Amino acid sequence: MDEDSVRQTDPAVADALDGERNRQEDTLAMIASENHVSEAVLEAQGSTLTNIYAEGYPGKRYYAGCEYADDVEQLAIDRAKELWGADHVNVQPHSGSQANMGVYLAVLEPGDKILSLDLTHGGHLSHGHPANFAGQIYEVEQYEVDAETGYLDYEGLAETAAEFEPDMIVSGYSAYPREVEWERIQDVADGADAYHLADIAHITGLVAAGVHSSPVGVADFVTGSTHKTIRAGRGGVIMCDDEYADDIDSAVFPGMQGGPLMHNIAGKAVGFGEALDADFEEYAQQTVDNAAALADRLQEHGLELVSGGTDNHLVLIDLRPSHPDTPGKDVEEALEDAGIVLNANTVPGETRSAFNPSGIRAGTPGLTTRGFDEDACREVADLIYEVVDAPDDEGVIAEVSERVDELTDEYPLYDD
Ligand SMILES: *Cc1c(COP(=O)(O)O)cnc(C)c1O
Repeated sequence: MDEDSVRQTDPAVADALDGERNRQEDTLAMIASENHVSEAVLEAQGSTLTNIYAEGYPGKRYYAGCEYADDVEQLAIDRAKELWGADHVNVQPHSGSQANMGVYLAVLEPGDKILSLDLTHGGHLSHGHPANFAGQIYEVEQYEVDAETGYLDYEGLAETAAEFEPDMIVSGYSAYPREVEWERIQDVADGADAYHLADIAHITGLVAAGVHSSPVGVADFVTGSTHKTIRAGRGGVIMCDDEYADDIDSAVFPGMQGGPLMHNIAGKAVGFGEALDADFEEYAQQTVDNAAALADRLQEHGLELVSGGTDNHLVLIDLRPSHPDTPGKDVEEALEDAGIVLNANTVPGETRSAFNPSGIRAGTPGLTTRGFDEDACREVADLIYEVVDAPDDEGVIAEVSERVDELTDEYPLYDD
């Protein structure tokens, strides 16, 4: 990457790029859906592949000049197949939402019925929220997590499915801290004669590493993002059995996209290659161990976690029991001032609003990339607690901010 050329031609953008690099270096990225890619992935994404049109698929393009694009896309596909054990993979979706759109387009008609998890219980916009295309094109019903336990209510799902008769059931979530039992959802889908889409956007890396059970070979379709727990740069991916390969490929192109973002596909190829290395399993395991350490220490401080803990890379703190007068947004802002970047999040049974909800969500993929272990994560839990407990105390913010500086110095991210 040659950031110097940006500096020469466009100082304003160069300032922002430098600022962003420093921001990531100097703060703790704990947004559960974020991570830091390698310099190699950054370089691939910044390559000359951004210049070309490669509509079509490897070996069958609608444009000349695609021989290297073919090489790169085939590498991404082959590596993805190996990582997730899928028969067929499409690496062209520009994002996770578009991967979902590709699946819907492949097998649903407008007006068909989708059954998905309520957004405030951990679902995703692209699973059928009214503000999203999916909510506008399809008829949507929602299932929930159990109000008491915070775990998925599989029996409730079966009951809702029997009543609603969905054409597709969507599993896989944005803010669900527990292991998903894919087979149980598949049983419900079988009983309802519905397709099952497992959206593993958050846990693609954990599934690839075998740290979370895999829906590949269980669900009809598996979609993922390539930038959350796997570090392959922004994008989406769709996996399915061979029987749906043609439907999926033609839904993605020409169904919903034109030319693929070949530079991003190069990032995916490089990031998938990195994930095939043995130390990626260690990374994924450490990500989960770190989240467990974070969860335990937060609970020791008396904070309430939805479901009482975590099996994956994220925790969801419900502030209401311990800090009923402290909205999530206040905590998010105070933590950002202290250099800990995470997001306010709705919790099951939300009593505030989507914009200023009662919870905060925190993840460990980014911290683990910079080398944090359980001890470091316990310290981060202490820091989060101090701010949650006194979000208006500038002395506390300043002191936490200093300790964040020490941690980010101890665990550097990118070499300059
Ligand atoms: C993050 C996420 C996506 C993908 O989002 P994009 O921002 O479109 O890449 C899809 N589904 C779930 C459940 C997610 O959490």
